[in-house]
Amino acid sequence: MVFGFFKRKKVEEEEVEIEPVSFLGPVNGNEVNLQTHARLVEAGLIRSKDLITDALSRRADTIRIEPKGPQAVVTILIDGMPFPAGKLAKPEALAITQMLKLLAGLDVKQRKAPQSGGIKAEYDSKPYLLSVSSVPVPDGERLLVRVADQKIKLESATDIGMGDELRIKLRDLCGGTGVVLACGPTGSGTTTTLFALVRNVDAYIFNIFTLGDLGGRKLNHVTAFDANAEDDLATTFARAMRKEANVLLCDPIKGADTAKAIFSKAEDVLLLSEMSAKDVPSALLQLIAWVGNPQAIASGLTAIVTQKLIRLLCPDCRQTYRPKAEFLKKIGLPEDLPALYRKPTIATQDLNAETCKKCGGVGYFGRSAMFEVLEMSPGMKELVNGELDAASIRAQMKRDKMTTLQHDGLRLVAEGKTSLEELQRIFKAPG
Ligand SMILES: [Zn+2]
Repeated sequence: MVFGFFKRKKVEEEEVEIEPVSFLGPVNGNEVNLQTHARLVEAGLIRSKDLITDALSRRADTIRIEPKGPQAVVTILIDGMPFPAGKLAKPEALAITQMLKLLAGLDVKQRKAPQSGGIKAEYDSKPYLLSVSSVPVPDGERLLVRVADQKIKLESATDIGMGDELRIKLRDLCGGTGVVLACGPTGSGTTTTLFALVRNVDAYIFNIFTLGDLGGRKLNHVTAFDANAEDDLATTFARAMRKEANVLLCDPIKGADTAKAIFSKAEDVLLLSEMSAKDVPSALLQLIAWVGNPQAIASGLTAIVTQKLIRLLCPDCRQTYRPKAEFLKKIGLPEDLPALYRKPTIATQDLNAETCKKCGGVGYFGRSAMFEVLEMSPGMKELVNGELDAASIRAQMKRDKMTTLQHDGLRLVAEGKTSLEELQRIFKAPG
């Protein structure tokens, strides 16, 4: 099922043909019968195509249609930041919502219960996956479309924005035995970080086995270990180690049982896993509570890594400026830094200038991760064996000059990849 037609759009006084998005069928494999929904197709197909094409051309990662009284408000998220994308009359919003549900293989008659599905699509010769979910709200149904560009690969530590210094440090930390964990709130990219850590291990020196479900991700040089369904985790670890495993990638730690099993093998092998936690100190405190033995954490834990996303300045329109040396010193940047960058400010913008073609005037283009790493330094071990809380963990990380999100963010500012304004926004934002 391919819908292809052309839409004319005026660009720079010259008419060029922009091919709109093509919908290639629902992800769930349901057959979409457009004939039986001819009226809906007539009312909704072109409108849906226009809306999705416009959002994809602006690099939206999420499209939200929210009914409010006689209208519906459309919002798009670009690199996670909301931007208004117009208002629709209620019948128009209804036609688009129902059409996108139909294309995603969902039940268009059902409007009182949440549904979710996906549409395979193509735009600008690139494959996309549009995840569609509908939720009933008092004024109708709210529709959310999440966009995944199937071509963008975020695999290696470098792909996800890790600096070389930290990447090499983590490679060294993953060169012995112990437990290395990725943590973060749900949806913050923890699994992506964990897989980047696995890819960062020297696969020519170490035998890497995975015991977990890779969720469709590919890992070269990693052997899937065939665990017996009747074995508990400790038995599975022992069997893998008889096969000379040096590194074991484990399923996420979700409770005391898995935490205890993983830490019981920390002296023999390197164990990599992930857990959900709001930040690094919370993850450490949770591990101590689960394992119930601070000594086992002090001796078994190697590092906990977390990440946060930050928008990158658009390379085509970023502006350079020279801050005062005292200011640089105050915020912890080298005083001799020649320049910093920021998005064009309204005061300096030439009002007659054209909108930047690359970012559409947003000033930012794409995102990178910033990282924080808690290491089990001698000072941290001592702390873990005594009374500790989030504040004392943070203080110890500072004393030992560990990489924090703020420091790693400043590295991106110093490299001209992001702005101080964006860094401030990230640390002010809730969560
Ligand atoms: Zn730009």
